[in-house]
Amino acid sequence: MFKPTYVFDKVGEITPEFLHKKQIKGLLLDLDNTLTTHNNPVPPQSSLDWLDKMRAAGIKLMIVSNNHAPRVTPFAEQLGLDFVSEGKKPLTFGYTRAIKRLGLEKRNVAAVGDQIFTDVLGSNLKGIRSIFVFPIEPETSLPFRFKRAIEKAFLPKKPEGAKR
Ligand SMILES: [Mg+2]
Repeated sequence: MFKPTYVFDKVGEITPEFLHKKQIKGLLLDLDNTLTTHNNPVPPQSSLDWLDKMRAAGIKLMIVSNNHAPRVTPFAEQLGLDFVSEGKKPLTFGYTRAIKRLGLEKRNVAAVGDQIFTDVLGSNLKGIRSIFVFPIEPETSLPFRFKRAIEKAFLPKKPEGAKR
């Protein structure tokens, strides 16, 4: 339940070739610490470039975030992405809604995220594949540090060659 299907160091390393090979046609993207740092309104250039590459390859994209609408809406709009906010992952209704909107079969969709207890667990509960990426930056708030400490036991190994 806590095991991701695939593991990458960061989103930028997920390639269209990989997704084609795995027959993944759509990605449900976590926002915080996956596409940008926590609550940062500005996406890094690397995320923008990666999203362009995915679009060019015909991969359908949608943000599914547990964060609230005032955080997610402007960010998603600036990226030109559709989104589900307050996804309440690991509950699955956010993913259900997003998959329906993408118009894809569940088996052709994977969720991308940096947290085991929300993104990975939610995907497993929904019965879709998950792509775990390591958080861009460690969170500083106490509740988050607590969550991360517990998560440690379930973390996959970093892919080979990953720096940091
Ligand atoms: Mg996250």
